[in-house]
Amino acid sequence: MDFADPAGSAERLCTWHRGPSTTTRLVRVDAATTSSRGAGVYACVDCRTRDGLTPLDTLAPAQLYKQLEATAINFLGRGRSA
Ligand SMILES: [Zn+2]
Repeated sequence: MDFADPAGSAERLCTWHRGPSTTTRLVRVDAATTSSRGAGVYACVDCRTRDGLTPLDTLAPAQLYKQLEATAINFLGRGRSA
């Protein structure tokens, strides 16, 4: 998996509002979507501001671990039914 955020900020789909944006950052790893189109959930700056989303690459390692752990528990708990 490639979570890199190119400095050139190429246009990418904002998963949050489902539209193209050049300001997207990885904000979540959603295990429930791995079977379809990848686990990375990206949000543009507008969506991040509106919904209080924090880019994963700005989190401290401990916070990042918690976020990923919660994702894993969530996934294991509900399986693929969601
Ligand atoms: Zn957006």
